[in-house]
Amino acid sequence: MKSHKRELAMAIWNKIAAFINKDVSDENEAKGTAVIMRVFILSMLFYFILQIILFVTYKEVPLILYMSVMILLYAIVFFCTYKFKTAVSFWIVQVLTLCWIIFSVLLTGWEFGIPHFLFVLLALSLVGGYHRIYVKALMAAAYGTIRLVLYFYMMNAGAYCSLSRIEGMIFQVTNTLVVYLQMTLLIVTFSKEIQATERKLVKYNKKIVELASRDPLTKLYNRRAMIDKMNDMVAMNQNYFCIAIADIDFFKKVNDTYGHEAGDEVLKRVADTLSVFMEGKGYVARWGGEEFLFLYQNGNGDEVKMEFDKLRRQIGKMTIPYKDLELIVHMTFGIQEYDCKKPLDASISKADEKLYRGKMSGRDKVVF
Ligand code: GH3
Ligand code: MG
Ligand code: MG
Repeated sequence: MKSHKRELAMAIWNKIAAFINKDVSDENEAKGTAVIMRVFILSMLFYFILQIILFVTYKEVPLILYMSVMILLYAIVFFCTYKFKTAVSFWIVQVLTLCWIIFSVLLTGWEFGIPHFLFVLLALSLVGGYHRIYVKALMAAAYGTIRLVLYFYMMNAGAYCSLSRIEGMIFQVTNTLVVYLQMTLLIVTFSKEIQATERKLVKYNKKIVELASRDPLTKLYNRRAMIDKMNDMVAMNQNYFCIAIADIDFFKKVNDTYGHEAGDEVLKRVADTLSVFMEGKGYVARWGGEEFLFLYQNGNGDEVKMEFDKLRRQIGKMTIPYKDLELIVHMTFGIQEYDCKKPLDASISKADEKLYRGKMSGRDKVVF
């Protein structure tokens, strides 16, 4: 029974949260400000309901009417945040709240905590809206000035409604509590928005880096990413590695005989095999069309040659299903130990020369 109630409460809360977080109608607008404004407006509506309860208790009819009108106005503005542009809603909320503060001070007096709402309004203008810093500074100056003008004005003028001692105390307590609540809500919502935005940025950034470093067909690293990796190794003084370049033998024939699509399928299957083979040994990249470059860590040329011989045999035995065909390909490899005394390119060229020698001397072999 208890868990059922909990579930119901969670479901209701999730609905409310989804409603507050609903995106603005224009997809080019950020929703952060709209969400912050909705949270603020809801807290104002909560405040007016509290005050109506207070004033009903003490039969303050004009104040009950006043708070009811405010509920209506804020409810309208709440729906504006779904319909209007965020910037328009932002200014409507600011102007309405400012008018409400001034009018409330004139109505009930300076001493019951209403002027504190000017601080909330300032916080709202700083965290909501993507205005330039000078607009924010101007708003801060304006709110400060309004507060002082109101203070001096109220020193001489009395309030229109006089509240009894106990009413004044309750009014002061609810005003103070709501100001603290609103400040907390605004800043918590704002920091949550920022964290969410940061997480999104980090995620997209990772995605972009990943996309930019991968070959779309084989999903292997592309040439640029591999060059970066090799340069990183050299920069970190990790000079003990071999470079291997491999090329599929007579690949053009696959394309010419079975079509480009079959060629693509072969490239994907071969790439998968190479990638599994290199797990824990280093990196492999698609270096060009049907050419792959390996960065083999922690092995001398002889050891690496033996490993690549195993791989070469594995590839030769592999059948690649394509439609109702079973394709077979072979590969030739050239291996070079990295020579840290020369530029990286020199070792890559050496590996390439050995690959060429392998091609010239019959293919399907590993040359070191
Ligand atoms: P060799 O044994 O000397 O390497 O002969 P080869 O036929 O493999 O070499 P060649 O360089 O003549 O042909 C490579 C072919 O690879 C030509 C090109 O159309 C094809 N190719 C390059 N990239 C792709 C690709 O992404 N997909 C497909 N299907 N074919 C590609
Ligand atoms: Mg080839
Ligand atoms: Mg080639």
